[in-house]
Amino acid sequence: MLKINKNFLELEDSYLFSNIAQKVNKFKEDNPDKKVISLGIGDVVLPLSAPVIAGLESGVKDMASIETFKGYGPEQGYAFLREVLQDYYKEFSVDLDVNEIFVSDGAKSDLGNILDIFAQDNVVLIPDPVYPAYVDTNVMGGRKIIYMDSNIDNNFLALPDYNVKADLIYICSPNNPTGAVYNRDQLTKWVEYAKEMNAVILFDAAYESFIGNDEIPHSIYEIPGAKECAIEICSLSKTAGFTGLRCGYTIVPMDLRCEDVQLNKLWLRRQTTKFNGVPYVVQKAAAGVFTKEGRAKCKEVIDIYKNNANILGETLKELGITYIGGENSPYIWLKCPNNMSSWDFFDLLLEKANIVGTPGVGFGKNGEGYFRLSCFALKENVIEAAERLKKLKFN
Ligand SMILES: *Cc1c(COP(=O)(O)O)cnc(C)c1O
Repeated sequence: MLKINKNFLELEDSYLFSNIAQKVNKFKEDNPDKKVISLGIGDVVLPLSAPVIAGLESGVKDMASIETFKGYGPEQGYAFLREVLQDYYKEFSVDLDVNEIFVSDGAKSDLGNILDIFAQDNVVLIPDPVYPAYVDTNVMGGRKIIYMDSNIDNNFLALPDYNVKADLIYICSPNNPTGAVYNRDQLTKWVEYAKEMNAVILFDAAYESFIGNDEIPHSIYEIPGAKECAIEICSLSKTAGFTGLRCGYTIVPMDLRCEDVQLNKLWLRRQTTKFNGVPYVVQKAAAGVFTKEGRAKCKEVIDIYKNNANILGETLKELGITYIGGENSPYIWLKCPNNMSSWDFFDLLLEKANIVGTPGVGFGKNGEGYFRLSCFALKENVIEAAERLKKLKFN
């Protein structure tokens, strides 16, 4: 008899974003004259830059001519892009072999797909609050999940507890949703723990390009020994506005072994079997990100988002609302004033200031009483949101 994967029945329905949409739609219906400002979603709003478009266009041209047409490409990605990524990592003093780099259609896919190479009875350690995909992909695979508390006591940066035995460890830094960032010492503690446990760290570096502080690692491989215990998953989505175009990369070091097997070999086998690579034109666009001009343009856009964070942060300070993030991250994670719950604050903000954010509790139990503001927005909207916030009385 045909059977389904019963693990899917264990998934918790995610009502977070549909609940938000429902509340916002109702508010708009009841108040058609009010302009609602969204600081809710984790999606970019500014368009692709000229060097990226130039790359895309040159790829399109190549596809139109018999001399330069491309069919199936290498599953791992074209050498021209992997070499550019190799050079990019040199800026962090990380030396990679091009065969350690796998170009992907984004971080979310690879965060799920990478689990193919690990056994189902591995124990997974996931921070709470968290990017929901880590949890759901492991529930689908039937793995046991242990949560580690990120909360105000540890500045939302959970550190290893040697009493907890785990095989797979998720770390996202700079973090979504909290904007918290691990420093070198803290990441060193995680690498030491992973080695002690014979565990593998899945390091989500989707927001590395928001780091503006030399003390903070962009890559887990800046930590000695990390190549023996970590896989890094990154994306051009937030770095260069690729959420719609789709391109990322995953690093599986040659030195990373488990039960005497090179994980790079397993991942290569998995990819060559189940994946046929990222479109040529998209890889050409991705190479545009890493040209000198492309780098400068990406930085300009990231600085716009970070300036938004600064505007909101200053406003929160004036209001006496405590928060973290916003410095090396596009997210501000604030403590709801007057001990309000996440959803009460959501309602108040929507009704009194016509601003949409994301209730922290939607990212896990430790998010209750907290709230995420996304700085992926137009500056004029952020300025207006800040003015509206200043008019609210919280005390
Ligand atoms: C946005 C985001 C990603 C990127 O996902 P893509 O599939 O590359 O768009 C990965 N991890 C986190 C935590 C994110 O917020």
